[in-house]
Amino acid sequence: MRDDAPNSWESRADAYSLYGFTDLPSIVERGAVVLTHGKGPYVFDVHGRQYLDANSGLWNMVAGFDHPGLTQAAKDQYDKFPGYHAFFGRMSDQTVMLSEKLVEVSPFERGRVFYTNSGSEANDTMVKMLWFLAGAEGKPQRRKIITRVNSYHGVTAVSASMTGKPYNSVFGLPLPGFIHVGCPHYWRFGKDGETEEQFTARMAAELEARIIMEGPDTIAGFFAEPVMGAGGVVVPSKGYFQAIQPVLKRYGIPLIADEVITGFGRTGNTWGCQTFDFMPDAIISSKNITAGFFPMGAVILGPDLADRIQAAAEAVEEFPHGFTASGHPVGCAIALKAIDVVMNEGLAENVRTLTPKFQAGMEYLAQNPNIGEWRGVGLMGALEAVKDKATKTPFPGTLSVSERIANTCTDHGLICRPLGQAIVLCPPFICTEAHLDELFNKLGDALKQVF
Ligand code: PLP
Repeated sequence: MRDDAPNSWESRADAYSLYGFTDLPSIVERGAVVLTHGKGPYVFDVHGRQYLDANSGLWNMVAGFDHPGLTQAAKDQYDKFPGYHAFFGRMSDQTVMLSEKLVEVSPFERGRVFYTNSGSEANDTMVKMLWFLAGAEGKPQRRKIITRVNSYHGVTAVSASMTGKPYNSVFGLPLPGFIHVGCPHYWRFGKDGETEEQFTARMAAELEARIIMEGPDTIAGFFAEPVMGAGGVVVPSKGYFQAIQPVLKRYGIPLIADEVITGFGRTGNTWGCQTFDFMPDAIISSKNITAGFFPMGAVILGPDLADRIQAAAEAVEEFPHGFTASGHPVGCAIALKAIDVVMNEGLAENVRTLTPKFQAGMEYLAQNPNIGEWRGVGLMGALEAVKDKATKTPFPGTLSVSERIANTCTDHGLICRPLGQAIVLCPPFICTEAHLDELFNKLGDALKQVF
C-alpha cells in the first residue's frame, strides 16, 4: 500500500511523473511500485518487498535481472568503446558482428540489417523503407499499410497508426492510409456455428476483399505479430498465415513479421514465424534481442527486400534515415552475448521444457467460472476474464477486472499484466518449475480473492 508521506517514494513518483500506459485510479489508491534491483526472475522495491516478475519486465528480461554474462559484456564494451553510430561509412566492429549474427540466426538465407533504439522505431523504419522502395520502383501510390485490429506495433505516430487499438483515437490516430483488418482470434470473433477452419478462410477472404477495395497497387505492406502480444496473447487461428500469405503474394504485398516479442525464443523456436511455419519478407526485432539489457531494435530484411531496397538506395546514392544511436556498440555487444545466452546456455531449451507445465497451470486456473479462455504458445499466455463463461460476456468496462486481479497479485508478490480483460503471463526464460508453481499459486489465490 502507498506511503503518503511527502518525501515517500510514492509521493515523489507522483509529483514528477507523467504515467504512461498506467491505470491512474490504481496509482491514486496504491502508489507506484518503485524498484531498486532484481535477482533472477525477481525484482525488489524500495520497501524491500520481493516480486516474481511474470511479465519479464515488459516481455524482454528473458535472462532475468542480473545475468552476470550480460552485465560483463556491457562493462567490457563500455570500457573499450562506449558509443558510436552506424553512419557515414563508419560503425563499430560489434555492429558488423551483430549484423552477421542476426542474418545467420534469421530464417533468411541472406539479408541486411538496420538498427533502431526500439521496436516502435523499427516498425517506423520498415514503413519508411517500403515507401522509399515504392517511390524508387515508380509506384509512389503504394503507401497504405495493412495491420490487424487489436495488434500492437508501438507508439510513434506511424507505429501507433499501425497499432489496432481504439485508445489511439485520443491522438487523432491512425493517420490516413493505415488500415486494420480482422483479428484472427477464433474464440472471440468466430461466428456461431463457424468452425476454426471456416473462420481462418473468412479472415483471408476479408483481407483479399479489403485489398481489392483499396486497390492492390496502393498497398505498401502487411505487418503482423506471429502472436499478438499486447493484444492479449492472441494465438492465430489454425492455418491463418498459410491462408493469408498466398493472398498477399497474389498482389505483391510484402509480409513483415513483427517479432518484437516473439523473437529469440518466446514461442519455443528462435522466431514466431518458425513456430507458425511461414516465411516473412522481413523481421522486426527488439526487446529480447538484448534480453532487455539495452534499448535496441532491428529491421532484418530477407533477400528480396534487401536486394530491392539496396538497389533503390544505390540509385539515389543514399538511404536517408537513421538514429544517433543506431548500431550502438554497447547494445551490439550485449545483443551478441544475449543471443548466445538464449540460444546456447539452455534458455531456449528451457522455454520448450517449461511450456507443458506453464500451459497446464493456465488450463487449471481456467476452470474458474470467471475465466472464459486460457491461450498461449511457448512461455507466453493469457487468461481471459468473463462475467458469463457460457456466453463469453465480458465484465463491464475494459480494464477494471483484470486490473483488480493484477493489483491483488502485486499484493501477493507477483507481477502480471492486465490487458483488456485478460491477465497476461510471460515469465523469464530462466524460470524453474518452482517459479511456475509460485506463479500459479499466487495467481490462483488472487483469482479466488477477486471472484
Ligand atoms: N511491436 C510489438 C509486437 C511490441 O510488442 C512492441 C512493444 O511492446 C513494439 C512493437 C514497440 O516496441 P517499443 O516499446 O520498444 O517501441
